[in-house]
Formats: sequence, structure tokens, C-alpha cells
Amino acid sequence: MSVNQYIKPITAVVNNKEHISIGGCDLVELAQKYGTPLYVIDEATLRGICRDYQEAFKNYKNIKMMYASKALCTSAVVRILDEEGFGFDTVSSGEIYTVYKSCVDMSKVLFNGNNKTRKELELALDLNVGRFSVDNFYEAELLNTIAKEKGVNADILLRLTPGIECHTHEYIQTGQIDSKFGFDLTQVDKITEIIIKEYKNLNLKGVHAHIGSQIFELKSFGDEVEILVKEISRINQKYGLNLDEMNIGGGLGVKYTENDCPPNVKDLADVITEAMHKYSVNIPKIYLEPGRSIISTSGVTLYTVGSSKEVNLDGKIKRYVAVDGGMADNPRPSMYQAQYSAEIANKPDSLVKNDLFQKVTIAGRYCESGDILINEIELPHLEAGDILCVYNTGAYNYSMASNYNRVEKPAMVLVNSSQSDMIVNRESLDDLISHDNIPSRLRK
Ligand SMILES: *Cc1c(COP(=O)(O)O)cnc(C)c1O
Repeated sequence: MSVNQYIKPITAVVNNKEHISIGGCDLVELAQKYGTPLYVIDEATLRGICRDYQEAFKNYKNIKMMYASKALCTSAVVRILDEEGFGFDTVSSGEIYTVYKSCVDMSKVLFNGNNKTRKELELALDLNVGRFSVDNFYEAELLNTIAKEKGVNADILLRLTPGIECHTHEYIQTGQIDSKFGFDLTQVDKITEIIIKEYKNLNLKGVHAHIGSQIFELKSFGDEVEILVKEISRINQKYGLNLDEMNIGGGLGVKYTENDCPPNVKDLADVITEAMHKYSVNIPKIYLEPGRSIISTSGVTLYTVGSSKEVNLDGKIKRYVAVDGGMADNPRPSMYQAQYSAEIANKPDSLVKNDLFQKVTIAGRYCESGDILINEIELPHLEAGDILCVYNTGAYNYSMASNYNRVEKPAMVLVNSSQSDMIVNRESLDDLISHDNIPSRLRK
């Protein structure tokens, strides 16, 4: 199995205090020491999936793994991925700056996005970002203009929409024709011709696509590779070019609940390399941009249980239990009806008899009825003060977090070999007002 096929971090065990521990750290003690809500990242799980990817693709020599930073971009996480030999797919100056300040060789960074601003493109050029994935005609012209002003050249890939529909949530599909991202295949000739004739400060190196996220069907990746390889060969022939880079994007799924069956990374590698060898004579350099599948499994979120209530629905009792976090630290359930698995850190499932499990709905603390973290989950009886551990929250939780209800964003700790280190400080009340200004006429 590869790490993305597990619900829990690979180091999750029940310790001799009958608590769940991750990375050798007792989760109840972590909650006491750092407070809740608390994001916890298990270093062994994170390094484990990085090695699964490197191992799976080891026979394909010319490959570069680019971690999709938008899944979770903090300096310590960047350092770990850099050590594991990953480059970085970035989508904003904030991500580019974080990677830069984390001492990454900027030639290993790719800048992606459908509406990069002039300021962001300038920063990316100034910091010598390795590749720009050019998304549209407007951006191609803008990037060429800025590069010309600076007297530099930008190495680019063309972001294509290959017209693939994969089975995932509508909002996280990106490869279909009706998408805000990229050039569709009918526009490729036009942009290629403009670049060759007019945009002398752009060096066209290859093509890029990303077909969606939380994908379980490997066939979608095979189809994508086929389309990209054919497109590269066609462009090369028609324009006498020698494009030899292909970015396949990310998208591999993870296991949020028992119902999810994500593929093994090894099988993903086989599908991609087979499609590559089947359709291509000159094997291009490949970039992969996994985000979710790299960081999701290594992360859990700890919450403290507070109030609860029971409602009588035509004789059926529904129990709500509220925790001290919710849609601001994990917007995915309210945004995509995303599902999660959870356990009580101080009452591990394996130690409680089956007939003592109860169906509960875990509610958040935010002022929205839709702030439900988990709808109907079977757990041992939950009481105020219990520590709830929600699994698989490493990706798209902290990176999508907000200060809704003016609540401080949680801290994040990295655990490894019984040691815990705070890698993101908990926001303070003063942090919350630190960007506010009061015009002098309103001061008191
Ligand atoms: C979001 C994104 C990724 C990462 O997707 P995951 O599903 O998290 O692996 C990779 N490439 C591009 C271009 C993206 O937009």
C-alpha cells in the first residue's frame, strides 16, 4: 500500500495510557500543551508518501515531482519537501515568497494560475522562478512584456484543457472543456504562432494540464497523457519545434473514509509510464504536481468537545455534539460536502465495545447552520472535554482557513520520534486586530 491509501497517519497507535498517539506523541497531551483546535502533521507519514512517489517512478529517469503548495504551504513543510527532492508548484506571490524564504532553489519552482497579476509575475521573474505555466492569451502577452522590460526570458509551459471529464466533485474538476483554466485544444496553434513570431522573451518548453482532484480512476491519467503526448508531437511537427516537457498536474485521491479506495502510487506510475511509452518516441521530461495525496494523510486536527444537544425527529433522536473549531479551520465539509473519519483520542475505537458506539453529528462552533464537520458518524459516547481527532486534514484545511467570526487560526505542530515542534503559531487576539486602522476622527 502507498501512504495515500491509509485513513490515519502511519504512526497512529494506541499507547499505554490508552490514548491515540501519532509520531510518538500522545494526542491528549498535545491538546493540553498547545491548546485546541490544533493541526498536527506527522513527519514520518509525509516523508513516507514522498518516498512512495520517488520509488514508484524510479524507472522513469526524467521526472520531477513538484509539490502543489496550495494544499498546505508553511515554511517547515516546504523544508521537508525540499529535503525529499521535491520542487514546488505555486499559485501566488505568497506561496512563491514562502518557498523562497525557505531557501529553495527557485529553478525548482513553477508558477501556475489563471489570472496571475503583473506584480506577481514581476516577483516571479525577479526571483528566477524556473517555469511559468501560461494559462491564457492575456497572460502570455503580459509576461512577455514584463520579461522584455526586465531584459530576461521566461521558460514557459502552455496550460491546456485536454477535455477530460473525471469522476470527482464538480468544483474540483478542471480538465473538462467548460473550465476557467487553460487553452483548449483549438487555441493551441494560435498561441504557439504568436509566441514564435512575436513573444521573443518567452521560451516555449512544453505543455501542462491538470485534470482535477481526488481522482480514483487511473484511466483518466492515461487518457490525459495520451492527449498531451499527441499534442506535443503535433506542435513539434507543425512548427519544427523541439518541445520536450510535459506537466501532468496532480489529482491523485486519498482515503477520507472507508468508502474511498484511492489507487496505489505505484499503479499511477505504471499507467503514466505505459501511456508515455505507448504514444511517444522521444520520451519527454515529466512533471507531476501532487498536492492532496502528499500532505493530506499526514495531517490530523484535534478539537475539544463542548456542548451537545438532542433533537427529536419524528421519534428519532439525533444527537449533535459541538467542538471548538469547524468551518473556519476546515471549510471542506460546508463547501464540498466533504466527508471525514474521526476518533476520540482519549477513547480509541479499538478499546470500546461495538455496542457502545453511538451515531452523532459533529457540529462546528461557527454561526452558520451549515457548519457541520461530520454528519452522522459512529463514535463512542462523546462528553465535554473529550479530544476529537479528525483524520486526513493535512490538505486544503489550514490553506483554506479563514478568520470567520473573528476567531484566531489554530496552531500547527510537527510530530516526529516523540518530539513535537510548533511550526505555525496560534494566532492571538492582537494578531486579529493588527491590520486594523482607526481614522483619527474616530479615535477615542
Ligand atoms: C490544485 C492543483 C494541483 C494539485 O492537485 P491535488 O489534487 O491536490 O493533487 C496540481 N496542479 C495544479 C495545476 C493545480 O491547480
